[in-house]
Amino acid sequence: MAAISTSDIKNGITIKLDDGLLQWPLPRGEERYGAIDGKHLHTYVVEQAAISRRYRDQGHPKFWGRIIGSSADAEDADWLATRFKAIGLTDVRIQPLDLVPQWMPQSWDVSISSGDKTIRLDSAQPDYGSNGTPSAGLDLDAVYAGLGSEADFAGRDVRGKAVFVFSMTGLKLEGAVKRADAKGAAAIFEVDMLPGNMRYQAYPAGTQAPAFTVGSDDGYAARDLIAAGASRVKIQLDVARVPNLKTSLVWGTLPGATDETVYVIAHRDGWFDAAGDNAGGVASMIGLAEYFAKIPRAQRRRTLVFIGLDGHHNTGEGSGAGRRWLADHRDTLFAKTALMINCEHPSTLQTYVRPHYQEDRGIVASNTFLAQQWYAGGPSRPDLRDITVRAFREFGAPLYVDPNDRPPAGDLGQFWRFVPGVASSEFYHYFHTDRETPETVPWTGLESVTRAYAKIIDEVNKLPLTTFQRPPEP
Ligand SMILES: [Zn+2]
Repeated sequence: MAAISTSDIKNGITIKLDDGLLQWPLPRGEERYGAIDGKHLHTYVVEQAAISRRYRDQGHPKFWGRIIGSSADAEDADWLATRFKAIGLTDVRIQPLDLVPQWMPQSWDVSISSGDKTIRLDSAQPDYGSNGTPSAGLDLDAVYAGLGSEADFAGRDVRGKAVFVFSMTGLKLEGAVKRADAKGAAAIFEVDMLPGNMRYQAYPAGTQAPAFTVGSDDGYAARDLIAAGASRVKIQLDVARVPNLKTSLVWGTLPGATDETVYVIAHRDGWFDAAGDNAGGVASMIGLAEYFAKIPRAQRRRTLVFIGLDGHHNTGEGSGAGRRWLADHRDTLFAKTALMINCEHPSTLQTYVRPHYQEDRGIVASNTFLAQQWYAGGPSRPDLRDITVRAFREFGAPLYVDPNDRPPAGDLGQFWRFVPGVASSEFYHYFHTDRETPETVPWTGLESVTRAYAKIIDEVNKLPLTTFQRPPEP
């Protein structure tokens, strides 16, 4: 993989990201956290992205990533166990888990034609779980339906047609795809208006009709073709539900002075390079293991347990197999748990879309990382909230002003009701797209956030279990 010092992000990066990123200086008195080095952690992001790319290059050119149940999942589990062993963690093991049949699109092809002009929509990506087409494919009239609100559909007959609707991060959710399905569309295309022509892997839309996302270059070209005259869309989508696949939890333990525990979890799966979601989180987890492994056991009050989760991108029945297994065993696992940190999307490049008077630059990168959504134990654990806010402030990791009522979308959602949990996360322009490369995960964010997590663990370890444990939340 190319060096990260010269970015290959399209749409306007002109600085060398590696050199130009703003680094927060270590506060006086906190020099020990300097052992957590963001550039070092970033090499783990690059290594995980390489696992994804190997899978892509082994015959999976369009639906690729560290996909649950795939050979990339197995390679990634081995890779993480190897890292854990190298650090000197004990009880390193890969715990296999059975999966329900997994949705795996085998091939697809989409094109739109009008007169003698045909455009192949290369960026089209089926929504997760989408139904396929008959093997002969579909050949449908195309219709444009704007943002897909009721007003957009008014006076348009979409029954049996291929419907194009438009959306973008930051716009009000219109429910356009479901609405098109309810109105009898035979296929639905949701165009992402973000600049560029990204492939975006969407979560299930739950439609009867096959549903795809489409990048903006392809989507606007399709719209303009529809405007020019009668257009037809040809679609072929072959999907399979593959049985008998397995995924795994990857465990490593760093014994402490007591049998009280602190858990650090991170999901291993993701789409495409999955650099932000969630190679960055796994890198942060590894960074914490490395940091605490170098501290004498007697000075580590609590046993640290690290778990690489299978993940949750296989949304629907049977997803989140690992976290459900953990929750099912909560009485034994979490009886003496003072803290669980979920490392999920800790570092995301700050980008801007079509800045005023610079619209033609598309998506513009900055030299820093985004503030995050966060949760730190909720209102009943003010000490944990204060520890967390102070740690993020000290190491220069920006947060939303107010915490979420419950953890940001992700794996802590399974645990926060009965475990004192901390999570910070962000989801942005490149999220779930083929542009979510290692360059979109600033090493500075990995460094600041991982240092903050380490500080949170140290501060929590100064206080008794009773400070943090609570009866389960309803
Ligand atoms: Zn995630």
